[in-house]
Amino acid sequence: MQIPASFDYDRATDVAHAIALLQRHGPETRVVAGGHSLLPMMKLRLARPERLIDINDLRELDFIRRDGTMLRVGALVRHTALLESAEVAQLFPIIRDAEQVIADPVVRNRGTIGGSLCQADPAEDLSTVCDVLAAVAIIRGPGGERSLPMAQFHRGPYETAVAPDELLCEIHFPIHPLSSSAYEKVERRTGDWAVTAAGATVTLSEDGSIADAAVGLTAVGLDGVVAGIAELLRGRPPGEELFAEAGLLAAAAARPIEDQRGPVDYKRHLADELTRRVLRRACARAAQTRAQKG
Ligand SMILES: Cc1cc2nc3c(=O)[nH]c(=O)nc-3n(C[C@H](O)[C@H](O)[C@H](O)COP(=O)(O)OP(=O)(O)OC[C@H]3O[C@@H](n4cnc5c(N)ncnc54)[C@H](O)[C@@H]3O)c2cc1C
Repeated sequence: MQIPASFDYDRATDVAHAIALLQRHGPETRVVAGGHSLLPMMKLRLARPERLIDINDLRELDFIRRDGTMLRVGALVRHTALLESAEVAQLFPIIRDAEQVIADPVVRNRGTIGGSLCQADPAEDLSTVCDVLAAVAIIRGPGGERSLPMAQFHRGPYETAVAPDELLCEIHFPIHPLSSSAYEKVERRTGDWAVTAAGATVTLSEDGSIADAAVGLTAVGLDGVVAGIAELLRGRPPGEELFAEAGLLAAAAARPIEDQRGPVDYKRHLADELTRRVLRRACARAAQTRAQKG
């Protein structure tokens, strides 16, 4: 049995209290949310925090709320809540697509969106989703609140722009009425991390051509969205030839490494194939949304 090194423990009562505790106890202190990434790392002694600040009582971070042209999601929202929200599925089908293939119900019942993004595992599905949706992170610390576009949030594998005395509090998703989105993942078995996955968002013009688009890839060494995809797709009608061009661009941009989940060529092939599939699905959904809006 693996047992973590000893640590002290505090249970924060609100955001201000959590930040005060982080500030008081210094950089060897870690926040614990669902604990599904941090605790396994502690058991393996890959992480040895001296103190944990438990944020599970911070109900103020547990909400999904539409606010004008933005969907606000608190950092403590569990995977299950995102999966089961009809509003999330309607506005951002990519989130439900991704949540359906994240781990298993046990992990989804505890794991949080904030923990997923802060863990910054290269195979984390919600990081790609947030990149593609151009989400904005709301971070609070001793100096107050700041907003950070997702493109600047991740600093590399397991590294984010959240300072040791800061808390990720919310994620803001801009709503575009004529957009839709999709996510697809290949995993070795149900509930496993991605061999490769792809996410796409597409906005259609009144004439049915693509007004804007973004594609992101998971677990192939690429942070942020694939460069050049929006420029390739803008102004052109959706279709198989176009999706194939985008797939080739994504495969060329991917930087996979060989590991127990598969060789480089296989992952590059998946980047190509999954890009085509998510663009196809996002375009079909966007066309449906457009038809419904009249
Ligand atoms: C068996 C298993 C399979 C999994 N499969 C997948 C998968 O297929 N796809 C996938 O995407 N994920 C997968 N996960 C990870 C899962 O999504 C976790 O829930 C997630 O990585 C971490 O969320 P958490 O709330 O448990 O974070 P925690 O483990 O509590 O924290 C993770 C890190 O984030 C920090 N942190 C947490 N919340 C905040 C905050 N609000 N502000 C600042 N820092 C914070 C912590 O200090 C810690 O460093 C899997 C996990 C397990 C155990």
